[in-house]
Amino acid sequence: MAVFKTLDDLTDLAGKRVLVRVDLNVPMQDGKVSDDTRLRATLPTVTELADKGAVVLLLAHFGRPKGEARADMSLRQVVDAYAAVLGRPVAFIGDCTDAGAVAGLEPGTVAVLENSRFHKGEEKNDPDLAGRMAKLGDIYVNDAFSAAHRAHSSTEGLARLLPAYAGRAMEAELKALEKALGEPERPVAAVVGGAKVSTKLDVLRHLVAKVDHLIIGGGMANTFLAARGVDVGKSLCEHDLTDTANAILDAADRANCTVHLPYDVVVAKEFAANPPSLRTCNVHEVAADEMILDVGPAAVEALADALKTCRTLVWNGPLGAFETPPFDAATVALARTAAALTQEGSLVSVAGGGDTVAALNHAGVADDFSFVSTAGGAFLEWMEGKELPGVAALSR
Ligand code: ADP
Ligand code: MG
Repeated sequence: MAVFKTLDDLTDLAGKRVLVRVDLNVPMQDGKVSDDTRLRATLPTVTELADKGAVVLLLAHFGRPKGEARADMSLRQVVDAYAAVLGRPVAFIGDCTDAGAVAGLEPGTVAVLENSRFHKGEEKNDPDLAGRMAKLGDIYVNDAFSAAHRAHSSTEGLARLLPAYAGRAMEAELKALEKALGEPERPVAAVVGGAKVSTKLDVLRHLVAKVDHLIIGGGMANTFLAARGVDVGKSLCEHDLTDTANAILDAADRANCTVHLPYDVVVAKEFAANPPSLRTCNVHEVAADEMILDVGPAAVEALADALKTCRTLVWNGPLGAFETPPFDAATVALARTAAALTQEGSLVSVAGGGDTVAALNHAGVADDFSFVSTAGGAFLEWMEGKELPGVAALSR
């Protein structure tokens, strides 16, 4: 794994100003933070630094202001919620390049700096902007894995200018991901589901070369089934990707990766909760007016058996349209199997993706996986085998 420094390498922090890149991009509803998961994720790093007497300056983006200072995207809105989560007072600095404003802060102070994207240079990774940000701190800590796939001044440029360290959340995420795809214990299984193949082509191409079992579910399985000559009726299916799907299956063959496509499926004529037309059938028996909305129970049982032979699992994408019952059944069943195997100690399980996290929460097993990433885009790019600029900058 890339070698990077962590907070363990930081000694004598008293009075030092530490610029910490965090993810404060929380959802808001009626002016209030509606989900504080991302705020809580910063606590280990922020409390540790503040307790050691550092001045902790939190650097983050909020929404997409595209270089303009906009009141509706001001990080001032999250300060109260952050103070509540942190359990200590939190100061606010109205510009993330205002070195004068942070000069007099007492050791142990925690301050949120205004939205880094109020500066046009941020998303261009402008070295001049990074230089002005760097004047605020003595040390740079990146604790925002979720922003590490972007080379911006606050995620990449700064790491070139100040001594750079991974925060605790970043460290935990990188270690978990390394265990899952870097140097995993074999056999390794990957579950890739979700709506469309087109959004996950690079993920699939990377995984077939890496894993022993590739379990394909969700709408994207239909594209693979169709490519193999199965009539998928009016299922969600990207027929224009037939050649691409076949190329991925051939690459899997060459790499000795076993691809698991469903052989029974749950279908309906209309997409609704518990529709009267609901039935389970073999993939070869889907009628022209039916659509596949979940993997069938026999296939799920076979997948569970395959998982039992594996030591490592990476999961992105639900197996069915899990938001609408009963098309959550396959996802819930396989997630529970994975969770149980993890708890028994026979499986390392790592999952990520917006809807995947929602699906695991729905199944009640998110806490039983080894690691669940809330990072979205960065997690997918990692699954694609790409180097994340924010991580690479830490390991220089
Ligand atoms: P993630 O956000 O975890 O990366 P995706 O966004 O790729 O996952 O996919 C999630 C979506 O895929 C869900 O909204 C789910 O309803 C949809 N989906 C899964 N299976 C099917 C299916 N057979 N037909 C239509 N949509 C499906
Ligand atoms: Mg999604």
